[in-house]
Amino acid sequence: MAKELKDLTKRSENYSQWYNELVVKADLAEQSAVRGCMVIKPYGYAIWEKMQHELDRMFKETGVQNAYFPLLIPKSFLCREAEHVEGFAKECAVVTHYRLKNDPNGNGVVVDPDARLEEELIVRPTSETIIWGTYKNWIHSYRDLPVLCNQWANVMRWEMRTRMFLRTAEFLWQEGHCAHATAEESENRTVQMINIYAKFARDYMAMPVIIGVKTANERFAGALNTYTIEAMMQDGKALQAGTSHNLGQNFAKAFDVTFVNKDNKPEYVWANSWGVSTRLMGALIMTHSDDNGLVLPPHLAPIQVVIVPIYKNSDQLAEISAKVDPIVNELRAMGISVKYDDSENKRPGFKFADYELKGVPVRLAIGARDIENGTVEVMRRDTLEKHVAPLEGIADYIKGLLEEIQANIYQKAINHRESMTRTVDSYEEFKEEIEKGGFILAHWDGTTETEERIKEETKATIRCIPLDGDQTPGVCMVTGKPSARRVLFARNY
Ligand code: AMP
Repeated sequence: MAKELKDLTKRSENYSQWYNELVVKADLAEQSAVRGCMVIKPYGYAIWEKMQHELDRMFKETGVQNAYFPLLIPKSFLCREAEHVEGFAKECAVVTHYRLKNDPNGNGVVVDPDARLEEELIVRPTSETIIWGTYKNWIHSYRDLPVLCNQWANVMRWEMRTRMFLRTAEFLWQEGHCAHATAEESENRTVQMINIYAKFARDYMAMPVIIGVKTANERFAGALNTYTIEAMMQDGKALQAGTSHNLGQNFAKAFDVTFVNKDNKPEYVWANSWGVSTRLMGALIMTHSDDNGLVLPPHLAPIQVVIVPIYKNSDQLAEISAKVDPIVNELRAMGISVKYDDSENKRPGFKFADYELKGVPVRLAIGARDIENGTVEVMRRDTLEKHVAPLEGIADYIKGLLEEIQANIYQKAINHRESMTRTVDSYEEFKEEIEKGGFILAHWDGTTETEERIKEETKATIRCIPLDGDQTPGVCMVTGKPSARRVLFARNY
């Protein structure tokens, strides 16, 4: 077994350390020289690219187009929407100067005080303000609507407590910004996008999520309403995996974006925005991986199948390669990404351990005896089970196996979530149960005061008011006041 594998902390010993180590050992990312900012390494980036590819396709199928807006936002823009600036002020990186110079006093290179910007610029924490400042020029009549734009970009939020992928100061994301003629159309788009995120989580990440609405306290700064998808990690903590915000007319009013409606009357434009980030990488790792390393869902694995030849000499290798090459071609023709690792500088045992650590869903090992018998050894990463399969028809078999693995890890995640979700009626019981981790469905009176009290006393937050599930009214577990329905509580990342 490769040394890297042996060194991986077990999840049961220290989940958080397991995660941090795995990110580095599986070659996904590493810390950089800049606090809170990470380097995403090629293998990690390849997974992110697959996520981007599928999401991008799903967005475009609904009529969304990509565009790009500047990294820097004039401070006055950020300040136009009062709640928005208040929400982001504490996390803003500010550009004040545009030049350095040699210090006349010999202190090396310093900021040139003469090069102070007239107006300070904010490194975007999110782009509503610069985009609505631009939409003012794009939108005049109902004929200009809707505008359905998305941008793939980096943003910066000066987070104090960071963790690779889950919460970084700079992160990669997509942010969709739509403009509509009616409130109804904008609300529909807001919901449509959270449903797309949920579908992506389910069908590609094999990650079950709860779709719901955020409480007023947890809502995006400047939004009327925030929809969220919440996932449960293996340690029972919740992770907000994506959000979609109905912004009402707040940004249109702040940036004076009006259109002439069908009745020839001026009206403010209706807005929504929605985003998912590289946090999804963290979600993917924390949902499926195990003590041996990553477990990647076949639908997002950069390498879906690896084939390792076992040989004693170059004649044997040539013989094996002659059998493997057509299989590789056949798999590729089916759209399956396959790597034939015939590199001679690593032993098969090392390769096995490495691909296991990297979460490659299916490994085939093929030796001289397999060639004689017309067989191949198949190992599936999700269960670590090995078996021998006939070479004849292997491509079709693997295609089916990949789907089976995808379905299996999804089901495993659902089972885990179900086993850690409870319904609780008293606050005493809640306090006990929350210590065990997982999701708790309980009644709440709908006030921010009660929500904050619970957070302070138990460190649990309301993850969302689920859209589905039990809608029966009851009484708040803390105050005994009426509750419209149970809401979802958890400790979270
Ligand atoms: P927001 O604009 O705050 O709704 O965030 C949009 C998406 O980015 C959500 O899915 C968040 O979970 C995610 N996100 C927010 N802050 C960070 C961060 N510091 N690092 C990574 N992802 C983040």
